[in-house]
Amino acid sequence: MDLSKFPDINMRTQVSITVDTEFTIAGAFRDQAVFPIGEQRVWCLNNDKSDGLGFMLDCFARYGVTATFFVETLNRHYFRHDPMRGIAEKLHTAGHDVQLHLHPCWTVFQHEDWRARARVRTKPSIDAFYGRTEDESVKLMESGLETFHVWGLPAPTVFRAGSLHHDDALYRAQARAGIPYSSHIGVAVFDSGDDNYRLYSGRHERHGVVECPILTFRDWKVAGKTHLKSLTITGSNFAETRMLLEQAHREGVEQVVILTHPFEYVHTSDLQMSRMRRHHINQRRLERLCAFLSENTDRFATDGLSVAAAMPMRAESSRNVLLKGSLRNAVPRMVEQAVYDKYAMWRLKHQQAAPVVDTEALA
Ligand SMILES: [Zn+2]
Repeated sequence: MDLSKFPDINMRTQVSITVDTEFTIAGAFRDQAVFPIGEQRVWCLNNDKSDGLGFMLDCFARYGVTATFFVETLNRHYFRHDPMRGIAEKLHTAGHDVQLHLHPCWTVFQHEDWRARARVRTKPSIDAFYGRTEDESVKLMESGLETFHVWGLPAPTVFRAGSLHHDDALYRAQARAGIPYSSHIGVAVFDSGDDNYRLYSGRHERHGVVECPILTFRDWKVAGKTHLKSLTITGSNFAETRMLLEQAHREGVEQVVILTHPFEYVHTSDLQMSRMRRHHINQRRLERLCAFLSENTDRFATDGLSVAAAMPMRAESSRNVLLKGSLRNAVPRMVEQAVYDKYAMWRLKHQQAAPVVDTEALA
C-alpha cells in the first residue's frame, strides 16, 4: 500500500493513554486480617464521588479522548460475583478500547488453602509471567479470552502482562493464543536484561506479536549518568509530557503509549483505602493532557491502542527512538511532587476516618 496517499496516517502521532484496571490483593497473602479489595480500588469512592475511574471517564468524555483500558480478568477466582464485568461493560459502552490484562497471582484463590499456598516460594513467583512456561501462559491468556467472551465484549487484540513482565516464552505463548498485539514493555519499570526487549518507542515484531512499548525516555543525563523513565501520569508533569509529545511528533515517532491506573488519582494512607483524598496534582495532569490533545488534533490522535497497533507497519515503525527530557523540566517536578506528597499524607493523618463505603452498590 502506498501510504503517502494517506497523509493523516503518516503525520499524526497516536497517543494511547493506557489504564491498567485491576483489583488488589492488598497484603492478604501476608496478613490474616486483610482481604483483597475489588471495586473500591478502581472507582476510589471518596465521599460518594468517584475520584478514580469516575474522574477519568468524565475527563476523557469532556475532551473526546478514547483511552485503552487493560482490564484484569483473573481476579474472578476470588471475586466470584465478578464485579469487573460491570466495569468492563461501562468502559465498552462509553466507547473506550477494552483490552486484556492478567495478574497470575489471582489463580491461587482456586484453592481453599490459598494463604498457605501463596506463602510458598515458587518459581516463577506467584504473580510473574517472566520465567513462566509457554504452555501455562497460553492457558492464562485463553482464560482471559474466555472471560471477554462470557462478558459479551469484543475479543481483545492487545494484551498487557501484569507488572510489565515479558520474555521470549510469553511472546510465543501470545502468538499461540492468537492475540496479535502487546504492550508489555516499559524499560524503566521492568528490565529483563535482554537487549532484544530494550524497546523505548515504536512498534516491534517479536515472535509473531507486534509489541507497542510504553514510551521510555531519557529523563536526564548528568556527568555521564543517565536516568531512564517510562511515561506515566504520576511520574511526569504536564510540561514534561507535552515536550515529549512534541518531540515525538517532530521526530516522526508514530505513537506514544502512556501508563496510568485509576488509583493514581487519589491519595490513600493504607492498603485498605479507608482514608482517601483526591490527588489534585495527578488529576490536573490528566486534565491538561486531555485538553492539549483535544486542542491539537491536527498533530495528535487518540483512537486507542488497538487501532494504533493495527496500523500498517512501515520501515519507520520499528525505529527505537529514545526521546530526551531535560533536567530543567525534571527538577521542578521532583520538588513539586515531594512537597505535595508530604502535605497530602499530613492531611490524611489529621482528617477523620472516611465513612465505610458500600462498593457493592456500584455493581
Ligand atoms: Zn497490573
